[in-house]
Amino acid sequence: MSTPAENFRGLLDSLTRHGVDADLHVPGEITMALTRHQVDTVRNAYELHRAHGIPVTHLDADAARARVASPRYLAGFLDPTVGLVDPGRLVWGLADAAERLGVRVHEDTTVTGVDRDQGAVVVRTEWGRVRADRIVLGTGAFRGLLKRLALWTLPVYDHVLMSEPLSAGQLAAVGWEGREGLTDAGIQFHYYRRTLDDRVLFGGYDANYHFPGRIDPRLEQSPSHELLARHFFEIFPALEGLRFTHRWAGVIDTTSRFTPVFGTALGGHLSYAVGYTGLGVASTRFGARVALDLVDGRDTEVTRLQMVRRKPVPFPPEPIRYAAVRATRVSLAAEDRTGRRNLWLKGLDAVGVGFDS
Ligand SMILES: Cc1cc2nc3c(=O)[nH]c(=O)nc-3n(C[C@H](O)[C@H](O)[C@H](O)COP(=O)(O)OP(=O)(O)OC[C@H]3O[C@@H](n4cnc5c(N)ncnc54)[C@H](O)[C@@H]3O)c2cc1C
Repeated sequence: MSTPAENFRGLLDSLTRHGVDADLHVPGEITMALTRHQVDTVRNAYELHRAHGIPVTHLDADAARARVASPRYLAGFLDPTVGLVDPGRLVWGLADAAERLGVRVHEDTTVTGVDRDQGAVVVRTEWGRVRADRIVLGTGAFRGLLKRLALWTLPVYDHVLMSEPLSAGQLAAVGWEGREGLTDAGIQFHYYRRTLDDRVLFGGYDANYHFPGRIDPRLEQSPSHELLARHFFEIFPALEGLRFTHRWAGVIDTTSRFTPVFGTALGGHLSYAVGYTGLGVASTRFGARVALDLVDGRDTEVTRLQMVRRKPVPFPPEPIRYAAVRATRVSLAAEDRTGRRNLWLKGLDAVGVGFDS
């Protein structure tokens, strides 16, 4: 059960089995080219997907615009295997299902520390302590409980806008009848979807890292929202005047290789799976499988994978880390504009390090 397709089928099965209605459906995703050099990126990505047996379709500018009308679209490829879900209903539904199976969920309870204690683990919280034989840590971008996680992950803020519902005229102007998930082939990319009540959710592009890895609700409102709004109307000039009713942001646990880091600590009584780099809705299911096998000390198909056994290249300590992230962002923005990779990025490629939105 280690391929992404098997993981996705497993997710569908679990939701059906436990009666979780999270509106998981599979309209596919189109990756659009917004610039000339993204046309090549789209072509290469299309061929790579084909080489891996994914039945993607290449779209020229006319075919792309026939699906979703934007003067910016120069090409695209449709991956029919990509699903969309309502993430709020997914976590509420999973929590309900877990509680029905006897799990106790304690929200709004900060864990302040985890320690070994005579062959077990003690989890300290503000309200009390829990003693357990084994625990799994899935704390995402929050790294305080296990210091070593700060070596491999850093928290970056990702921003989202939600529009008011589109009128019948506005819908006719953009088409988008297949309600596909949309993204573009930039390194700093946008992601967007048409919701069931015909709003547009539009997010991504900026990935803001705050020195020295600060996470703070006050960082959730940002000029990045204005930038997103500008990009939105560049893509959809026909929707000029549309209002955004909601804006928010969240932290993404980024690693230097864009895939999670797995491991154990406290003498094998704790396992961790963090660092989904903004792509964890389905892959946390796989990550949980790995973390459970690790904490049970099992040698399985998934624990033997190279991406599980090997750690990503660590990020440097502060303040070099902040400077390196800044330099990388400036370089990526230049590459998005010009299609050319500078020496800094080529150097990072050589050591297997990346950073994107
Ligand atoms: C704006 C945005 C858009 C995204 N879009 C997508 C997308 O389109 N597709 C996709 O696949 N993924 C997307 N993601 C990423 C996805 O949400 C994550 O990868 C996924 O939620 C990771 O799940 P997780 O369980 O590992 O961590 P999280 O969902 O981050 O959960 C970690 C939990 O641990 C809790 N925690 C941390 N420290 C402590 C502590 N000390 N005590 C108690 N609790 C603690 C946190 O409060 C949090 O609830 C997006 C993320 C953001 C922010």
